[in-house]
Amino acid sequence: HDPEMICIGCGATLQSDDETKAGFLPASLLKNANANEDLYCKRCFRLRHYNEVQDVELTDDDFLNMLHEISDKQALIINIVDIFDFNGSFISGIQRFAGKNPVILVGNKIDLLPKSLKEGKMRQWVTERAHEAGLHPKEVLLTSAMDTESVEALMKKIEIERKGQDVYVVGTTNVGKSTLINQIIKLATDTEDVITTSYFPGTTLGKIEIPLDDERVLVDTPGIIQSSQIAHYLTPKELKQVTPRKEIKPKVYQLNQEQTLFLGGLARFDYLKGAGKQSFVCYLSNELNIHRTKLEKADQLYATQKGELLTPPYKDNLESLPELKRFEFTVKEPSDLVFSGLGWISIESAGTVVAGWAPKGVDIVLRKSLI
Ligand code: GDP
Repeated sequence: HDPEMICIGCGATLQSDDETKAGFLPASLLKNANANEDLYCKRCFRLRHYNEVQDVELTDDDFLNMLHEISDKQALIINIVDIFDFNGSFISGIQRFAGKNPVILVGNKIDLLPKSLKEGKMRQWVTERAHEAGLHPKEVLLTSAMDTESVEALMKKIEIERKGQDVYVVGTTNVGKSTLINQIIKLATDTEDVITTSYFPGTTLGKIEIPLDDERVLVDTPGIIQSSQIAHYLTPKELKQVTPRKEIKPKVYQLNQEQTLFLGGLARFDYLKGAGKQSFVCYLSNELNIHRTKLEKADQLYATQKGELLTPPYKDNLESLPELKRFEFTVKEPSDLVFSGLGWISIESAGTVVAGWAPKGVDIVLRKSLI
């Protein structure tokens, strides 16, 4: 097709190769289009006809340009993170781009965590992690896009804190930004066509504006992809299996030293040294199979059973999964060993030595226990 064809909604070059990228239009429509036709990409089409925002991925440069524009404005910034993947969804440098603007940090997907967790304690934990990462939010809120009450609480907080200014909503992909904003639109408006688009100068993508009053708008910004997210290496089917959809049921494993847990065939946990037999609690998708073995047998088991006993990955995706990389940690306080995007394993005893393995490029970090 003609490479010059662009979406008249957001200005992105139209393409049919990747639905998650800007300017996507199904091949059947793009093939038959002629050059003088007004064409909208799928995202802008949905926006125009259903008042529904859809997430699209953005390059790093575009994302930086977008953040620069926000830093020049006087606005309230809503930064949404995935509470289940806090490290993977945190935008480093966000405080620098916020400048003097207040930030409300929203930990979304709270419904995934055990109901027994106290909200106050969790908020405190999120606040501490934000401070460690150099972000000093005006407020920390916990939400579930599925829970109307928490979305209404967020809307109320936005109304108080914006002080008549515009509101920019930022977040990495997959934190639930679109779902949350669509809920806000549903709750806040009953009119058709409330949404308009305009540009972030110097980017390939438009911003979506939802009116808050006669003059001010809530701006939905495109999400940035975090390269450390495991989602990059998975097929849609595999991703569905490892992404928790409902409350996580923690699984407890009693391990002796030199025992190993495989998280499907995607990651591996070795208990190397410590105070004898210990409990390790796994917070992972309920559908992800955990397989226990002896450390001395682990390498061989992985070599022969990846894609067989140890799934996901499935056979059709073995080629594109990078080899596992090993990181070793000595625990100093009750901690979580986080496999970015998959979940975490909590470790109680100080002095315990463990190793975490994940596909090369995917982060493994040790953090203070959430639970
Ligand atoms: P975006 O990329 O940040 O716009 O994320 P989406 O809104 O597309 O959501 C990504 C995935 O997370 C989707 O499968 C949503 O259904 C799911 N999701 C969004 N919000 C929540 C939430 O509060 N709880 C749970 N459990 N899932 C959510």
